[in-house]
Amino acid sequence: MIALGTHWFCPLLNRAIAEGYCLDIQYQRLGYCKPDVLTEVKRETRKSAGEISATCDDCPNQPLPDQP
Ligand code: SF4
Repeated sequence: MIALGTHWFCPLLNRAIAEGYCLDIQYQRLGYCKPDVLTEVKRETRKSAGEISATCDDCPNQPLPDQP
């Protein structure tokens, strides 16, 4: 994991993000809460939900590695 304090480099957004923002993305892409952050990430990256999930699943910083 490439950690920068409570931030780390996000391959999806191609910039450093806070751990909490990463967790918001994970919870929303896994359907645990409202998708407002995912809507924002789709707008920023122009990626589909499937493409976002593929990037997050392969990310070395994935905070929820045991999720299906
Ligand atoms: S798990 Fe997804 S949102 Fe979190 S750092 Fe990796 S690519 Fe970015």
